[in-house]
Amino acid sequence: MTAPLYDSHLHTPLCGHASGTPREYAQAALDAGLSGICFTDHMPMPRWYDPPWRMRLEQLPEYIAQIQAVQRDFAGRLDVRLGLEADFHPGTEKFVEGVLNMHDWDYVIGSVHYLGAWGFDNPEFVVEYEERDLGGLYRDYYALVEGAARSGLFDAIGHLDLPKKFGHRDHDGQAALHALDVIAGQGLALDFNTAGWRKPVAEAYPAPDLVRAAAARGIPFVLGSDAHQPGEVGFRFADAVKGIRDVGGKVVTFRGRKMHP
Ligand SMILES: [Zn+2]
Ligand SMILES: [Zn+2]
Repeated sequence: MTAPLYDSHLHTPLCGHASGTPREYAQAALDAGLSGICFTDHMPMPRWYDPPWRMRLEQLPEYIAQIQAVQRDFAGRLDVRLGLEADFHPGTEKFVEGVLNMHDWDYVIGSVHYLGAWGFDNPEFVVEYEERDLGGLYRDYYALVEGAARSGLFDAIGHLDLPKKFGHRDHDGQAALHALDVIAGQGLALDFNTAGWRKPVAEAYPAPDLVRAAAARGIPFVLGSDAHQPGEVGFRFADAVKGIRDVGGKVVTFRGRKMHP
């Protein structure tokens, strides 16, 4: 591989469920031969929303300062960027917009982690899938993804087909294709998220047929390991790049919230 590689989906212990210091993530990226990284930790949300799984608003300055220190330490060796993984949850858009205005971020991922009050990617609540009609679940999920794409708040959509995480695959696909039309129309990118290869479904997000459909619509991809520990940085990026290039897709990064080839 000759093109410079960036891992643009990394967490830090500030979210409460990741380990390793930001410096260790950066060192892991250097060791893996990457050119750069972008930290995208789970952003602060209103107090009532999912508090154990994200930094608190008061911790935002600490997050920024920690990553800026890593930027200085690795200057000239690794391009270290600073972003956020935001949640899209109807009603919280104003709060999210406020946080996004607090700093000049490089890259903001918009992710849907909740259907109503159900955190559907939390292993603790996986039994809920048995209570649901999968077709309806995916229709509801992709309607939220379209809302995220239309909100104008985000640069990319996170782990597009996340409800498949535990093996509950989408057997229809129409809602996903419609969401891709909206994502393309809004000019957004997709997080090519290799964490799926570490989950029960054992498949990156998005699935190969969705990667193909996205590439056909001109939607670019941003590589992300979704690392929650340094050893996951750059996870299976060679496979990711191959999966994208094989279907004529392109890989981009973001800096100052602008897309770079
Ligand atoms: Zn996380
Ligand atoms: Zn996520």
